Amino acid sequence: MPTDTSSPAASLRRPLVVVANRLPVKQTERGWEAAAGGLVTALRPVIEETGGAWVGWDDAGESVPRRVDGLPADLHAVTLTPEEVAGHYHGFSNRTLWPLFHDLVVQPVIDRSWWHTYEDVNRRFADTVAKVVGDHDEPPVLWVQDYHLLPLPEMLRRVSPASPIGFFLHIPFPPPELVARLPWRDQLLHGMLAADSIGFHTTRYRDNFVRTVQQLFSGVTSLGDTLALPDGRHVRAVAHPISIDADEFAQLATDPETERDLAELREQFAGRRVFLGVDRLDYTKGIRHRLQSIELMLEENPDLRREVAFVQIAVPSRDDVQEYQELRTEVETEVGRINGRFTEPGHDVPVHYLYRGVPRHHLAAYYRLADVMCITPLKDGMNLVAKEFVTVQAAAGEAGVLLLSEFTGAAQEFEPDAVRCNPFDIEGTSHLMRSALTLEHDDRRERIGRMAESVRSCDVFRWVADELADIERGHAGP
Ligand code: UDP
Repeated sequence: MPTDTSSPAASLRRPLVVVANRLPVKQTERGWEAAAGGLVTALRPVIEETGGAWVGWDDAGESVPRRVDGLPADLHAVTLTPEEVAGHYHGFSNRTLWPLFHDLVVQPVIDRSWWHTYEDVNRRFADTVAKVVGDHDEPPVLWVQDYHLLPLPEMLRRVSPASPIGFFLHIPFPPPELVARLPWRDQLLHGMLAADSIGFHTTRYRDNFVRTVQQLFSGVTSLGDTLALPDGRHVRAVAHPISIDADEFAQLATDPETERDLAELREQFAGRRVFLGVDRLDYTKGIRHRLQSIELMLEENPDLRREVAFVQIAVPSRDDVQEYQELRTEVETEVGRINGRFTEPGHDVPVHYLYRGVPRHHLAAYYRLADVMCITPLKDGMNLVAKEFVTVQAAAGEAGVLLLSEFTGAAQEFEPDAVRCNPFDIEGTSHLMRSALTLEHDDRRERIGRMAESVRSCDVFRWVADELADIERGHAGP
């Protein structure tokens, strides 16, 4: 059945309840506002048509308003104590599951008390969803997001047996031998398998999940996108790459404010080729490896020292988790060392390091400025920055190069137009950075154009439509 992407709600006749770790709202000086982001933008037309709600944790708890401007969903906050946040969010989610699901880039911590809190918090989410379900005349579609809530579909199946239930994993799903290390693997997998449809970014992650389930549980058969379970249930396991609102970024590319920011940046970096990195400061993003490749490039090519600049925007992230504090120190030491080694008196530093987020227009201006966008994670579920970069570049007629780690979800979509790198290979990546500067203008422009086209044809509206269609399909049965 082809998906009708013109109206994501076309396949949805019931209200939609999104359940995610956080509520998509923030409190500003002007009051409560909807958070910016592709998922909220893409869901807005769906929820406008079907009605619905969003359940998530928010520090403000009961004082979160039921509605905010720009988001047509009822908001239901799950209130958590500081101990629950420590065990569920900082502990089990971000120090156990996150590193394990990102191929052990750092060692996961196995802590029983975190697991118990994680389960308890998932029950708290289920209790809140139960109240929301009670507000509706017919069982709503329940769509659960991400690794903070892996056991939730099974809990929701008891809360609302007649609801279509979907789950989407926003991070990679690792190979079976890594999942096997988790003492609570069975509970987590059973939790997910209670959904009607389980979505992943790529076929590789989906296949990892299917192999894991088949290796750990007997009697599971897989046919196409459907898993048949020993109890007679069928579950869809599907690959739907998340994406961006391509029109929004294309417009942002040539917005007057972006043009103003760009003019300033071009003046600041006049005469230099710009390498750009834009990441949350997370150890999965490969920022240290990237800096080492830059350092090697500058070491081996003295002629480049005055000719290139590397701008790293590092958005602060999870800064109360020990591994993230250590990473910040390491990255900042690395930046200091490179600038100490290669800055020439009277000239600019080679590495410009911004430890902060930047406004959207400024980000778009940086995307346009970049000659080489360095997206080199050691592991990344998708990487939306890659999609934003090619969209902005193409819309403004730029001709930059996308250097993209093969360990990102986006790499599968951008084959063969991105320059593909293995970030663990410091020397190889350094040589690719150097050679990226030598690609012909027309070649670069054509590659950017093809990648932007693939983002446009597979944007976030399409992702929502495909997900919702598969949830309904899974619920209807084979
Ligand atoms: N981003 C932002 N402010 C910044 C830099 C980046 O809001 O200063 C956004 C960026 O536009 C992108 C998101 O952060 O949408 C990062 O998404 P991605 O999938 O690349 O990585 P994640 O942070 O989800 O691991």
